[in-house]
Amino acid sequence: MDALTVRDVNVTGHRVFLRADLNVPLDDGRITDDTRIRASLPTIVYLLERGASVVLASHLGRPKGKVNDALRLRPVAERLSELLGRPVRMTGDAIGPGVAVAVDKLRPGDLLLLENLRFHAAEEANDPAFAKELAAFAELYVNDAFGAAHRAHASTEGITHFLPAVAGLLMEREVDALGRLLKRPERPFHAVIGGAKVSDKLDVLHALLSRCQAVLVGGGMANTFLAARGASLGKSLVEGDQLDNASRILVEARRKRVRLMLPTDAVVAPQIHHRARTRTVAINEVPADQMVVDIGPQTIATYTEYLEKARTVFWNGPMGVFEMPQMAEGTNAMARFLAKRSARAGVVTIVGGGDSVAAVEHLGLGPKMTHVSTGGGASLEFLEGKILPGVAALLPAGAVVNLGPVS
Ligand code: ADP
Ligand code: MG
Repeated sequence: MDALTVRDVNVTGHRVFLRADLNVPLDDGRITDDTRIRASLPTIVYLLERGASVVLASHLGRPKGKVNDALRLRPVAERLSELLGRPVRMTGDAIGPGVAVAVDKLRPGDLLLLENLRFHAAEEANDPAFAKELAAFAELYVNDAFGAAHRAHASTEGITHFLPAVAGLLMEREVDALGRLLKRPERPFHAVIGGAKVSDKLDVLHALLSRCQAVLVGGGMANTFLAARGASLGKSLVEGDQLDNASRILVEARRKRVRLMLPTDAVVAPQIHHRARTRTVAINEVPADQMVVDIGPQTIATYTEYLEKARTVFWNGPMGVFEMPQMAEGTNAMARFLAKRSARAGVVTIVGGGDSVAAVEHLGLGPKMTHVSTGGGASLEFLEGKILPGVAALLPAGAVVNLGPVS
């Protein structure tokens, strides 16, 4: 990547503020997916093994600037200590005199996890005073939180005004892997886009039309494209206020000679419910009392056959309501197909997006893909070609950071 990384600095004996993305999904205080914690391990271990003292910080959920007991990082500390095989101490707050005392006591190789940064409104407001307090805990700032890099917050951007700032190993991997899609991806480069809404993905759709040779659309957003072409889709999720935008994208695709593919059949159900009965219909035969909940078998076959030619595939957004097993086949089939193409044919397969990544990880197929991004919104903004403030704030490659003698 074009930024300095943690490997460019001698950290031994120095105090490091490590911003990670430990924002894991919780269900009643239990972590339902620890992918982001595991993805953060390499940098944590790297720093500890080299004898740095590590002050680790993250946000969790959306406490909106107030202390929320349900969003404390305690479960994260516990999972982290299981993964590291050592106890992980944590503080009761992200800043304050108590934290400063705990930080002062850190020895080389010690790790301390700060409480949820977003308990302070100053974090999301990128308040310089708050950023300065965080910076006072360390001599070096390492950003490994790719998933938060599209936000200019105190712990992702503000702090870099007070400390030398470098990328962590996960940040580097994310930027390099997604960067491959922006810089000379091997062609054909096709995108598979799904998920609930067109409105969430307008910008990335436009960006992909300039980069890809084909865009295969599934999920709820395909309904809006089909409706824009005049299809009647019963009770399906259709964004009525996005029909013009969808039409514009269809026109743009034609103008740019990008093949934009839409489903030809669908799995339908009377409602989204785990006991709802499903059946398969042609896309122009969706009954008035049913809704589209997944792409159908014919669409799966057409899409995967078309993707056989691709050398690079980016996938964002599930093909259906994958949370319900009887509505998950389109998503699961896509995941299995891409994993196989990557493992057997060396196709570059990159998956980004919270729900699509969860689907892939749930099937245990993450390791078979070329790259599974931990950044949902961040990966999309990156692909749109936007500059991520958390990345832009890092020191450029080639800069020299000397932390001086060990105190
Ligand atoms: P990602 O997080 O991968 O970017 P999104 O958040 O855009 O994906 O969309 C995921 C959601 O879309 C899932 O909760 C899924 O149930 C929903 N979804 C997919 N297909 C449909 C559909 N046909 N109707 C309603 N919701 C859908
Ligand atoms: Mg999502």
